Amino acid sequence: MKCPNCKNKMTCTQSDYHYTESGLTNIYLSGIEIYHCSCGEEIISLPTVSQLHDLIAIDLIKQKHRLNGRELRFLRKNMGLTAKNLGEYLGIDNATISRWEKGTQPISSPHDRFFRLLYLNMRRVPQDEINAVIQKDFAAISDEQVETPPFMIPREKWSKTEICFQ
Ligand SMILES: [Zn+2]
Repeated sequence: MKCPNCKNKMTCTQSDYHYTESGLTNIYLSGIEIYHCSCGEEIISLPTVSQLHDLIAIDLIKQKHRLNGRELRFLRKNMGLTAKNLGEYLGIDNATISRWEKGTQPISSPHDRFFRLLYLNMRRVPQDEINAVIQKDFAAISDEQVETPPFMIPREKWSKTEICFQ
């Protein structure tokens, strides 16, 4: 890659990346390419956002605890829904959605499951995968609402190319 600043050839290194742009605090991406130039220019090569967010969302849907506020907000936004839309679909007012997302009130267990189902359906996840999630993952969801431990999205999930392939 050529430096957009001085047109010199940039060097490439790879690194894990703390993906705070997601609005979540616990997502890391492995094998992110960082291009450096002797002039000080630095370019971080992130994968396509929509593809990446779908991967993160599926990991969240399979979490074995009640969804926390940041997770709810991330999933709602990835569905392209406003808090008002979601409130209408779940049959509750959007002030409640807002309290869930701020973490001042936990989402109820039935709403949590219905919300996950809504997500899987609206994002057109194949029916046999949805059934597997219901039977395997839903049965194991505990009532506790915890901060999700850090998790890594590995490079091979979104990229077929070698790291720093020129
Ligand atoms: Zn440069």
